Amino acid sequence: MELTIDYECPQCKKDSHQRFADISPGKMRKCAHCGATVVLTIKGLRGFERALEDYCRA
Ligand SMILES: [Zn+2]
Repeated sequence: MELTIDYECPQCKKDSHQRFADISPGKMRKCAHCGATVVLTIKGLRGFERALEDYCRA
């Protein structure tokens, strides 16, 4: 099972899933829709909490 985290694009407001393994300092994730750099949001962190719970349960 892949641990993913939700990111929100500040430009087009679309959510995108990113693999947690890809999220590390110095790695910029880009929106698949408009190419803007996506940022981690509180909402994304909440989603991550759920993803982590599922991950630990599996
Ligand atoms: Zn976008």
